[in-house]
Amino acid sequence: MIDIGANLTDKSFKNDLSEVVGRAISEGVEHIVVTGTNESASHDAAKIAKLFPDRLGFTSGVHPHHADDVTEEWLDTIRTVALRGAAAIGETGLDYFRNFSTQANQRKVFQAQLELAATLEMPVFVHDRDSNGEVIDMLRKHAQTEVVVHCFTGDGDLLDAYLDIGCHIGITGWICDPHRGTELADIVSRIPDERLMLETDSPFLMPKTIDPKPQTRRNEPMNLKYVRRKVAEVRNQTEAHVDHITTENAKRFFRFEEISHSMRE
Ligand SMILES: [Zn+2]
Repeated sequence: MIDIGANLTDKSFKNDLSEVVGRAISEGVEHIVVTGTNESASHDAAKIAKLFPDRLGFTSGVHPHHADDVTEEWLDTIRTVALRGAAAIGETGLDYFRNFSTQANQRKVFQAQLELAATLEMPVFVHDRDSNGEVIDMLRKHAQTEVVVHCFTGDGDLLDAYLDIGCHIGITGWICDPHRGTELADIVSRIPDERLMLETDSPFLMPKTIDPKPQTRRNEPMNLKYVRRKVAEVRNQTEAHVDHITTENAKRFFRFEEISHSMRE
């Protein structure tokens, strides 16, 4: 299994990161992509990844929540960090659900990162929450760029639209939620085998199917197996099959072989 999205730069992981990585490995997670969410978190993601070069990758980007807070040289910073062996540009996109940054700034920062990814010929790790089709419109103008829409929580029409333009889809523990995850559970079998990936979005989105309920609210990559189990169940596939296809997809998409090689140099 590969966890394609974990916020291991979150302060809740500060004191026990090696244990977290160790537990993930013992539960069958062979790789984890640590997401960069702003300038300093992208730096931190790269730093953390270098501590475990065989197990961790990282992304470099600015999340829409932080689009209002970028410095003047933010794009240079994101480019510099990306060139240290990032697996993707991101996390980037639009979030009109929370609107922590103005929509104008979100669009500007997203657009600049799409252009950067195109220039560097790198894939993009995309966040879309309630953008009402704006993310997909912007992606359509970058047809050459490889995209994974992470933590997909939209409806069937949006899923079909993303699949139509060739996107990969990341599924989190959202699907394990007995209330808000049911719509996603109904449509996840529409994703072709070669476009599906799994992620925890740690420390968020603890799978609600863990029994007994964990003592902590902090989700971590070792819990990826619960996402795999639910995805397998609703797609009517074996867990081994879901494991195999999602691992192969993530390796190909993020070019892990090339990256871990360059990170060791
Ligand atoms: Zn996100």
